[in-house]
Amino acid sequence: MNRLMFRRRALIAWIALVAISVMPFTALAQTQIKYHSNKFSPQDDVKLGRQAAQEAESQFPLLRDETVRSYVESVGRRLVASIPSEFQHPEFQYYFKVVNASDINAFALPGGPMYVNRGMIEAAHTEGEMAGVMAHELSHVALRHGTAQATKGQKYGVLAGIAGIAGTIFGGPGVGQLAQAPFAVYLLKFSREYETEADVLGAQIMARAGYDPRDLANMFRTIEQQGGGGGGFLSDHPSPSDRYARINREAQQLHVNAANRGDTREFARIQERLRSYQRAPTMAEIQRSGQRYPVGETTGNNPNNNYPNNPPTGRVAYPSSRYESYSIFNGGVQVSIPNNWRQINDSGSVWFVPEGAYGQYNGQAVFTHGASFGVAQTNSRNLQSATQDLINNLAQGNNNLRTSGGYQRTTMSGRNALFTTLSNINEATGRPETVRVITTQLRNGQLFYMIAVAPQNERNFESAFQTILNSVRIND
Ligand SMILES: [Zn+2]
Repeated sequence: MNRLMFRRRALIAWIALVAISVMPFTALAQTQIKYHSNKFSPQDDVKLGRQAAQEAESQFPLLRDETVRSYVESVGRRLVASIPSEFQHPEFQYYFKVVNASDINAFALPGGPMYVNRGMIEAAHTEGEMAGVMAHELSHVALRHGTAQATKGQKYGVLAGIAGIAGTIFGGPGVGQLAQAPFAVYLLKFSREYETEADVLGAQIMARAGYDPRDLANMFRTIEQQGGGGGGFLSDHPSPSDRYARINREAQQLHVNAANRGDTREFARIQERLRSYQRAPTMAEIQRSGQRYPVGETTGNNPNNNYPNNPPTGRVAYPSSRYESYSIFNGGVQVSIPNNWRQINDSGSVWFVPEGAYGQYNGQAVFTHGASFGVAQTNSRNLQSATQDLINNLAQGNNNLRTSGGYQRTTMSGRNALFTTLSNINEATGRPETVRVITTQLRNGQLFYMIAVAPQNERNFESAFQTILNSVRIND
């Protein structure tokens, strides 16, 4: 079984003071913006952004809700189509994902990937306010600010590697707590000029897309209201009141393309949907759990061990008959695990594996033996069709995964559960393996799953998996 997982890269921070290139043309024309000098090609932006996106997705829990994601994507597409032609890059691949975090934030990476926090969608008063944050972030990407900033840094030899180039944070409560690795790599601060440019171009994109550009300014108010006077803003950002005034000044020069105006009821429906879910964790909470069991690192006696770069050997000890109790998902689940296994957190799910059963292959984390637990947001409240969604999802990343048999009824933590068996060819060892999937529903309708994997011919793991399953206690 594999899950995407990538090595953590060193954080490189640099400070660049850039030349002013926002030049008010005339009082009645929209502000003209120019590119900053840039040593990199647009293809470099795409490549760097893709690397950073893989890293981001190994650290941030994505909201697994296709309805919400595709809604955010549709707003994003509308904005992308409204980027002025001089800032459009055919190479760029814009896409939009939702991070299940409560902070009012969004960030975009060079070349197109954008991540919008669930908290931002919930906090916005209107679709326009949400779109404003997205337009601001898109503008950093379209203006190629990440690589422009890196160009400056390179002049001074500060830049040891450019893999860490990333987007920027929009603002919001709790930001200060994030100025630590591993999240910090995404939170590079842009200069005041870059921020102003992103506000101005963002306002222009808004107007072309049929949004009132003043909604971008209004979002600062919304963030201030919810963040206690805007204290979360990074210290060198232009103060929200400055930005508020600057955007409103620009808005006076813009004509809103009313023909592009969309259906605003959709936004209310999406907010309602999000509010029915369990509270999202804050970035700080995600980070704390990440520090305890950092992605890419093992835990236990040797917390600083790097996740092995080599593929798993698949040669492992028998599961110990002594079990140790673990509390996972912030105490929501208790489970007993053989005491010769260790816990590894892997982008939203938790694995328990014996030594030798995990490693990397083609840049992906691969497991040969072990059990993992996770929670999935599915569209269906019907257990079987929700389980089928989960399996379809697994199959997307594993071409050799096949179902072998239907669903059987079982129980997990005293509730109705489904059990199904899949076969797979292990990516690293090439050996056939059996993947057992057990699912049940949480009170909020989310799907809780256990996935257990071992080579087909190693039956001695069966009883360990059964003991683990029997031990699961869900307190939701
Ligand atoms: Zn910005």
